[in-house]
Amino acid sequence: MRIKGWRHPNGDWLRCRAGGLRGVGVETSGPLEELRQQVVECRRCPRLVAWREQVAREKRAAFRDQTYWGRPVPGFGDPAARLLILGLAPAAHGGNRTGRIFTGDRSGDWLFASLWRTGFANQPTSVSRDDGMELADCYITAPVKCAPPDNKPLPAERANCAPWLDAELALLPTIRVVVALGAYAWDETLRHLGPVRPKPRFGHGAEAALPDDRTLLGSYHVSQQNTNTGRLTEPMLDAVFGRARALLSGAAPADPDPKRRATDGRS
Ligand code: SF4
Repeated sequence: MRIKGWRHPNGDWLRCRAGGLRGVGVETSGPLEELRQQVVECRRCPRLVAWREQVAREKRAAFRDQTYWGRPVPGFGDPAARLLILGLAPAAHGGNRTGRIFTGDRSGDWLFASLWRTGFANQPTSVSRDDGMELADCYITAPVKCAPPDNKPLPAERANCAPWLDAELALLPTIRVVVALGAYAWDETLRHLGPVRPKPRFGHGAEAALPDDRTLLGSYHVSQQNTNTGRLTEPMLDAVFGRARALLSGAAPADPDPKRRATDGRS
């Protein structure tokens, strides 16, 4: 089979570990695609269904000529990825508009530019589902698949959506490093891929061992609240993905203390 790939500006030759890149940034067949089809039909959360559809009808003025997605937004990327990026939920006029997580808003601009600089993406911009974005060794998803009002899902909505993330994770057995964007994603990662005792504290650059020799890395979220204020800078974000790259290349975890290593099993 011919392996497709691309030459990164840093000279590296990058390729999708699954053996072939997917045309629009998502896999086009297989179990993850089947799961995607189920996710996009989900209507378990009445409040979120009403909100995502209202936003899609009313639109932001700048996008009034576009057809909003207005449905759940599943993850996308390399089905054989070793790096998982976990966010919070789709943005009302970002993922909820374009149908791809972190696509079409300022948060995505920051995230994909950094992934491009660190060799996980084939281009620095992400504007639509058919923009040619392809991820190598990287998969992006969120624990809540529908845009919530004020970016704040309710506990019951988080619980409703948890099985979708569990199903996604079950289909991504090659994941070795998880980058959690924000404290919410940090906690969700520990909930789904833990437990770890004592519970490690979130912070930018924080690192914790997960069961099954996986590593969790923390990053401030790429929200405008963080990027506009300088709380999160491009070098800070690149450093997290650079650390992920190093771990995937065999670097030792930063937390070798066995008392802080992950415990086996689920609580
Ligand atoms: S948030 Fe999750 S569980 Fe709730 S409607 Fe959307 S996809 Fe379904």
